[in-house]
Amino acid sequence: MRPAEIAAYEERYPLLDGETALQIILAHTPVLASETVPLAAAAGRVLATDLQAPLSLPPFPQAVVDGYAVIAADPSPRRRLLAEVPAGHPGAVTVTPGTAVRIMTGAPLPPGADAVVMVEHTSEEDGWVVLHRPVRPGDNIHPVGLDVQAGETVLRRGTLLGAPEIGLLATLGITQVPVYRQPVVAVLSTGDELVPAEAPLRPGAIRDSNQPALLVAVREAGGLPLALGIARDRAAEQEALIRQGLERADVVLTSGGVSVGGRDFIKPILERLGRVHFGRVAIKPGKPLTFATVGDRLVFGLPGNPVSSLVTFEVFVRPALRRLQGFRHLHRPEVMVYLEHPVQPSRDRLEFQRAVVRWHGDRFLARTTGLQASSRLLSLVGANALLKITAGPAVLPAGSAVPALLLGPVETFAAEPR
Ligand code: AMP
Ligand code: MG
Repeated sequence: MRPAEIAAYEERYPLLDGETALQIILAHTPVLASETVPLAAAAGRVLATDLQAPLSLPPFPQAVVDGYAVIAADPSPRRRLLAEVPAGHPGAVTVTPGTAVRIMTGAPLPPGADAVVMVEHTSEEDGWVVLHRPVRPGDNIHPVGLDVQAGETVLRRGTLLGAPEIGLLATLGITQVPVYRQPVVAVLSTGDELVPAEAPLRPGAIRDSNQPALLVAVREAGGLPLALGIARDRAAEQEALIRQGLERADVVLTSGGVSVGGRDFIKPILERLGRVHFGRVAIKPGKPLTFATVGDRLVFGLPGNPVSSLVTFEVFVRPALRRLQGFRHLHRPEVMVYLEHPVQPSRDRLEFQRAVVRWHGDRFLARTTGLQASSRLLSLVGANALLKITAGPAVLPAGSAVPALLLGPVETFAAEPR
């Protein structure tokens, strides 16, 4: 490219800082409409309304131990056994002074009784029960509404529905669940050099790793992935596939062809189809990251290098996919970590270095995953954090504190780290 063309490119796409880029993306990202799904399909979805309990739990005063339902103030030395109330079988018998009812955990307290005595604190003989300990009213009973009060807000809009939430909905009898729609996310790879993973390698070719990786990243972020295949480095072919994606998906992700090279067509295509909001971000890896909207569709032109595409997905696309799904929390937790070895910052860009973070004693320790080349997928394999290394000339010595985005589970090390 001639210097004048590069200057025009840099003027059209000023270098934004990462925070600004993220704000622009989120400012153009709506929350999708909601839909109602059966309880069995609600796991992993995001609740679209606040939910109030339609009933109290427990719905009746409930015995919480196996034993005898009695009147606490009853002074009788022994009590005549009237009946047995197993769980699920409300008895018709009323407890009166001088009597008791045998009762099981979870069974409704019979009328008249105001306490349950544990079977371990009694003896029973010939239809009579003797209590070995004093009893107070309310002993071993859960009153109506102890767990949940009718009308109480039990789940908030924007909550991810996991095991306890599904259990709660089931126990409340809420079997039609309003959730936000999941975004369909189309993924396109570009490049003459690319062949699918199952194809043999001809000279000069490499296998397409971005599409399979991004399809998984989309699913992990709660989206519905849609593969668009591989487009050769022809503007018309790329544009046709992007148009297909725009018809079928809420979000289109492309990778490669987004820089300033003579065969990089993504930015001009997106300029033709919609509005490009930015085309360069001062981050490493991922500088040529491009964001456009076409009507209400979002398009991300991700860089081609495998690490660049996954890191920019993580930092910029994932929060947008979460916003579309109505999540209240869009971002990964950010914590301070302490470097286990010196780290050389980039001269001019915020760098997301891939690292393994562990909890040790009273702090997080971080060790990077070796060579941080943007082609080296192994730098992401096993990483559970992205260190945010601010640009600067000076090496950060071991022990320096830096912010990190936690991407996954952190292990605890009791012993001295190696
Ligand atoms: P580009 O931005 O198209 O110049 O691509 C930058 C680098 O990433 C080149 O080395 C490409 O071969 C590589 N690359 C681009 N797309 C993919 C892909 N889908 N899978 C693996 N590597 C890719
Ligand atoms: Mg390319």
